[in-house]
Amino acid sequence: MAARLSLQSVSKSFNGFPAVISVSFEIAPGEVFCLLGPSGCGKSTTLRLAAGLERADAGLITVNGAAVDDGCRYVPPEKRKVGLMFQDFALFPHLTVGENVAFGLNGFDRHLRMKIALEELEKVSLSRFSKSYPHELSGGEQQRVALARALAPSPSVMLMDEPFSGLDERLRETVRAETVRALKARGTAILIVTHDPEEALQIADRIAVMREGRIVQVGSPEDIYDRPRDPHVARFFSELNTVHAVAGQGSSDTLFGRVEPVQWPKGTRIEIMLRPQFLHLADLGDGIAGVVRDSRLLGDDCLIEVEVDRPDVTEAGEPLILKARVHGRHLPAPGSRVGVNADLSHAFVFPCSHQPERVPA
Ligand code: ATP
Repeated sequence: MAARLSLQSVSKSFNGFPAVISVSFEIAPGEVFCLLGPSGCGKSTTLRLAAGLERADAGLITVNGAAVDDGCRYVPPEKRKVGLMFQDFALFPHLTVGENVAFGLNGFDRHLRMKIALEELEKVSLSRFSKSYPHELSGGEQQRVALARALAPSPSVMLMDEPFSGLDERLRETVRAETVRALKARGTAILIVTHDPEEALQIADRIAVMREGRIVQVGSPEDIYDRPRDPHVARFFSELNTVHAVAGQGSSDTLFGRVEPVQWPKGTRIEIMLRPQFLHLADLGDGIAGVVRDSRLLGDDCLIEVEVDRPDVTEAGEPLILKARVHGRHLPAPGSRVGVNADLSHAFVFPCSHQPERVPA
């Protein structure tokens, strides 16, 4: 299916500082595409370029196949047929809910605008508030009004910048699920900017991880979470247990056990990383021996920190603390001795950034 929104090698600098560097992606009808990354990596600028709130220095942006920014041609935001939703959803306080939703419907007479507005409010279950003013609604209800307003002109592309971060956690999940369902049902292409990895994993069809102005990895949530391209991407989604080792012939013996296959040449220094849920507590004598330093309840899970008996496994001889995230109620007393087993099928293996001068062949 033809892409609704496409960016090809789009770049943007501010006073010589490259905020977005050669970013390319396409979003299909009904697809949720999340830009994810740390503060300042260029997510919002990318979205603002797609919206037309910034002009690109280079590259091509198309909406429904038509160029909206190609270095010469520049179509302003109100003519791009894209919907915009921001964290600060800014309803007009002096207009009723119905008038707020009708606001963006240019080109229709007043009667028809209000009819469409009421239909949109009905879809987010708020038509009974059409004559109320925004301050009479809860934060979540106001956000749904903002959604109805953004949907009313039936945009084929919706651009959303941290649209749910102002909502409290319970409301956030409901409003987010409702919003995404409503947009997908209409075949709208959705670009969402977030710095929250869990949010991206929950709603995205594809995630693009950005760093320092560039997209460093694009893929399905499973791809990005299970097959991160580098330690930075891996670390973005959870804490990691890291041990260092040296590659052998196709495998490597590590504190966690034998890791294979290892694709780097023999002698390459590698780091092995495991998310806390892939470490399991065992009886002493089974797995890696250590002492419980801390155990905390996280709701349905517990996080247990175990100091490994062998300080020689870290490069500086510092204590190695492993973090195990265990499902259910399991809170061993600090000071008790336990074993830790690793599920190596979920290990990430990367070459270390610092290598010895010569790696033996
Ligand atoms: P955050 O999650 O904190 O919103 P972000 O990933 O969305 O961050 P951007 O807002 O796109 O990041 O900013 C990327 C870089 O570009 C930052 O270093 C920022 O300071 C810079 N920048 C963005 N807009 C402007 C501007 N109008 N003028 C100058 N610099 C800007």
